[in-house]
Amino acid sequence: MSAILAVDGLSSGYGPVPVLRDVTFEVPTGTIAAVLGANGAGKTTLLRTLSGLLRPTAGQVRFDGADLRGVRVEALVRRGLAHVPEGRGIVAELTVEENLRLGGLWRRDRADARRAQDEVYELFEPLARRRRHAGHQLSGGERQMLALGRALIARPRLLLLDEPSLGLAPRVTAQIMALLRRLCDDTGLTVLLVEQNVRSALSVADQGVVMSLGRVVMATPAAQLREDETLRHAYLGF
Ligand code: ATP
Repeated sequence: MSAILAVDGLSSGYGPVPVLRDVTFEVPTGTIAAVLGANGAGKTTLLRTLSGLLRPTAGQVRFDGADLRGVRVEALVRRGLAHVPEGRGIVAELTVEENLRLGGLWRRDRADARRAQDEVYELFEPLARRRRHAGHQLSGGERQMLALGRALIARPRLLLLDEPSLGLAPRVTAQIMALLRRLCDDTGLTVLLVEQNVRSALSVADQGVVMSLGRVVMATPAAQLREDETLRHAYLGF
């Protein structure tokens, strides 16, 4: 299987403060990789660097074989990379419908952007019912659906998701994880999932990428982390 994302020796940080150090891993097309690790391990910084918000100080990111260095954010979106940031990044003052339209802003194919919007309403029925409600009127679960839905309108091939389970009831988290699995299996979407909720991430992931102090300390099949208690104790602390 080819890797849609190949990260090689990536380092980055905030100004002079280094955070990521020599990060290397690959994500095969159509799979889910869970990025795990304690607070401050650098997971969010990794997503920010991959989506072009932070400039790498060293290393390379290949997306579908092409080097991403210097590619602008909107060009990344057009190539099929979508980032749902921590805190979800929806606009609280805009309606559900308006937020979704923002997701299609860079789409040249307007007709397909509208089709994608209808698909999001089918996928997330609560959003269809609340399409004229403002973002701030939504529940946590609905906000997460909106953030995900908005990203899907760009028809991404690689979705970078930061803490989708944050603040959600376990049932809603399970629904979102199941949806991600289905999208990967049915459409070939690839997901890089940052999660504090290690159990739920490992329940759907194909691969676990464990980070500590800005480095990848292990990248291994998720099944191994699910089954091997010693490994889990050593790297994930449970
Ligand atoms: P969390 O789950 O708490 O978000 P994380 O693994 O995502 O943790 P990061 O948010 O990537 O970790 O943070 C990694 C390091 O970078 C931390 O030491 C943090 O203090 C630092 N850091 C994060 N954001 C900034 C920033 N805007 N400016 C300077 N340092 C930052």
